[in-house]
Amino acid sequence: MADILKGGPCAKALTEELIGRTVTLKQKDVTPCLALLRIGERGDDIAYENAAVKRCEKIGISVKKFLLRSDVSREEVLSAVRAINMDADIHGCLMFRPFPDKAVEEAASRLLLPEKDVDCMTSGSLASVFSGSGVGYPPCTAEAVVRLLHYYDIPISGRRVTVAGRSLVIGKPVSMLLLRENATVTVCHSRTEDLAGECRRADIVVAAIGKAKLLTKEFFAKGQVVVDVGINVDAAGNMCGDCDFEAAEPVVAAITPVPGGVGSVTTAVLCEHVVRAAEKA
Ligand code: NAD
Repeated sequence: MADILKGGPCAKALTEELIGRTVTLKQKDVTPCLALLRIGERGDDIAYENAAVKRCEKIGISVKKFLLRSDVSREEVLSAVRAINMDADIHGCLMFRPFPDKAVEEAASRLLLPEKDVDCMTSGSLASVFSGSGVGYPPCTAEAVVRLLHYYDIPISGRRVTVAGRSLVIGKPVSMLLLRENATVTVCHSRTEDLAGECRRADIVVAAIGKAKLLTKEFFAKGQVVVDVGINVDAAGNMCGDCDFEAAEPVVAAITPVPGGVGSVTTAVLCEHVVRAAEKA
């Protein structure tokens, strides 16, 4: 039987720390504030927004919402970003991606002030994930993976890690963060010839593909730690990860559940970035 690495306790510990830091900020008349910019009404965006708002409320972070229609013009989006930049009370901004228009998304990320970029949209923040310069913030989900491993005292240094997925939001940044922790990282993607073999050879598997239960029994080996980042819906309409949990759990040493794994830590990491941005301001 594998240990189940639930995100809840890790998120709770971080939330409690953030409540303390927010109290200290409020004593200096600073209330951390997150701007949420959402275009349209996508269900997964709204679910993440609700979870983020709930976590912010618990910590004492205020939220300003910028909700735009899905047919919004480029100029309206950019003027919302300018308003966020100019509002001194706002410390961090989360924009739900992808935007309906890729070019507008790129223009918005070029415009956003780097110090308010709490989810690694700007090229400066992305560069710092690679350089380790300490400027900006890594993508919240990528950082949540590393925090979860630390919370459960799972050694990373020197371990073989296979990351399945190479997106700019998860796969690539989590690979860089784990490399910074001295893991030996293999990054796999849709053209990888033997994904099952690459996963089996790893001490830690991070699955960030976005395909329901793609990783079946032959992807796993005894003693492994599996972090399932995927959020998908299976054929029966239930939320599930990229790993076939029932197949993996009897084999591996530890595995994160979906739901209740990495996703729970992501909103707490977002709040940590906002509090840190307020502390810096
Ligand atoms: P994406 O579509 O941008 O990237 C998917 C990656 O998987 C690509 O790099 C692609 O090369 C790779 N891939 C696709 N098919 C593959 C295959 N058959 N074999 C190997 N690699 C393959 O997705 P994303 O934005 O990185 O998200 C990945 C998953 O993480 C999704 O399920 C998403 O919903 C979830 N997610 C979770 C959280 C969280 O907080 N837990 C946050 C964001 C996204």
